[in-house]
Amino acid sequence: MLFSIVYITQKNQESAKKSIMEKSHENEHPIKAFGWAARDTSGVLSPLNFSRRETGEKDVQFKVMYCGICHTDLHQIKNEWGITKYPIIPGHEIVGVVTEVGNKVDKFKIGDKIGVGYLVGSCNECENCTNDLENYCPGQVLTANGTHSDGTITHGGYSDLMVVNEHFIVRWPDNLPMEAAPLLCAGVTTYSPLRYYGLDKPGMHIGVVGLGGLGHMAVKFAKAFGTKVTVISTSISKKDEAIERLGADSFLVSRDPEQMQAAGGSLDGIIDTVSAVHPIFPLLNLLKTNGKLVMVGAPEKPLELPVFPLLLGRKLVGGSAIGGVKEVQEMVNFAEKHNITPDVEVVPMEYVNRAVERLVKSDVKYRFVLDIGNTLKKS
Ligand code: NAP
Repeated sequence: MLFSIVYITQKNQESAKKSIMEKSHENEHPIKAFGWAARDTSGVLSPLNFSRRETGEKDVQFKVMYCGICHTDLHQIKNEWGITKYPIIPGHEIVGVVTEVGNKVDKFKIGDKIGVGYLVGSCNECENCTNDLENYCPGQVLTANGTHSDGTITHGGYSDLMVVNEHFIVRWPDNLPMEAAPLLCAGVTTYSPLRYYGLDKPGMHIGVVGLGGLGHMAVKFAKAFGTKVTVISTSISKKDEAIERLGADSFLVSRDPEQMQAAGGSLDGIIDTVSAVHPIFPLLNLLKTNGKLVMVGAPEKPLELPVFPLLLGRKLVGGSAIGGVKEVQEMVNFAEKHNITPDVEVVPMEYVNRAVERLVKSDVKYRFVLDIGNTLKKS
């Protein structure tokens, strides 16, 4: 009896706490908003009423039209990195149309097509910020599951509207379809390291590990830079398409030791986009002397780093995270000029849970994009 009273009291307290939390999401800001959120690690999203801040003097308010589903959303929905604050409204590959601007906004006007990636704030003062590297600012505010300066949690693009400081918004080029929203994360996350690490020189030979959302963009950018590209994949089924459709020059099955050995010492650089723990020794073996292995995938556990192949070939292992706002604008402009768009499967909002299930199985070519503008219905 006592046990059941304690149990019921605990249950009541939990549900009261839950309703206070949900209420605060709905009421913490003045503008009513609606989106889809994950509430626990199950991987299931459901509708959520929440709120957005008023459009401040340097803010742009916009209607979300399309939002990509990045594997980072999946890591966060399932709390694979251990940092998720539920309920989480994911989404950081966002294209929208401006509906309101603050009185000190000078870059945008109502009706403009715009893009927002994974950053909606930074300190604006540090060395990184002053060098257009807001993506490395210790005070950066991520678009979803981040923390605003007022302590409230950021909510991403699986939602009807957003309010973002104009500095973190890019102009969406006229000739890019809005469905190409994955450029805003998958695109810049691969464009940026190819540029920064000097892996963009015509004639170089670049490897791309993992042919998913990021990987297929790495192939497209590396080809546009004039390099030769080898895809390194666990999925032999992706070979024909990698070569015939995406334009890769060759394909290696990473789980075939003979193929990997035969290609040893052939690559100037590698962009590794794999989302799970995997061995990197065979990848280091693929590099020439002075070759560079750049990690952009974010497995939830550390990878083993063998040192001898680094010493003996003066090889480098580096990393890279998204891109600064200026570089995101440069990248979308480059994509427009070179006719580079992601291969996407556009799906309605209600399909999000199925899309998440399929992404877990790498069953997408190569990015799901939610058609928020036409299909997000308030229930
Ligand atoms: P994705 O579409 O799921 O692609 C990941 C690819 O990795 C898969 O298609 C698969 O390619 C390969 N893969 C999956 N499991 C594997 C395993 N166990 N062993 C070997 N290969 C495996 O994911 P994404 O959206 O491209 O994101 C990839 C990673 O980058 C995620 O961890 C994401 O969080 C991270 N990310 C980082 C940044 C950054 O700023 N650095 C930005 C965005 C995303 P194959 O079938 O070809 O083997």
